[in-house]
Amino acid sequence: MAPEIAKGRPEETDLAEVRNYARDILKKLDKAEFSSVNVPGNFPYKEIKKSIVTPISTDMCNKCGECARVCPVEAISIKGSVETDPGKCFLCASCIKVCPMDARILPPPLSEGMKKMAEMLKNTRNGNEIFI
Ligand code: SF4
Ligand code: SF4
Repeated sequence: MAPEIAKGRPEETDLAEVRNYARDILKKLDKAEFSSVNVPGNFPYKEIKKSIVTPISTDMCNKCGECARVCPVEAISIKGSVETDPGKCFLCASCIKVCPMDARILPPPLSEGMKKMAEMLKNTRNGNEIFI
């Protein structure tokens, strides 16, 4: 959906970190060290907010069903048209990415906001955080 973000990743340093991560997991398994993992975050967790908008399908849609197949929460149904349940959709964008016809899009006000955000993030390089 925003290929300019994290362009070129994973790079060699990312892959080296993944290899080290795998080695550390093996070490931990060998030693049977199963301590709890602390992951930073905001507590208490907030209730998930339901989307007020969802991706939509344009006239280019040929009802192939790929979007419904990949949707992790089964929010999409294809009857006469492609329908998306806003009570289930959490805007992961998998359906947009998979659509072979480029028919699945965000509604214009949201897509404009996403473009602005992508523009701000495209030169940001975040490091990996590993929890083991
Ligand atoms: S993947 Fe695209 S073309 Fe296929 S049903 Fe979904 S919106 Fe339509
Ligand atoms: S954005 Fe994600 S959750 Fe929403 S309909 Fe598409 S695949 Fe399903």
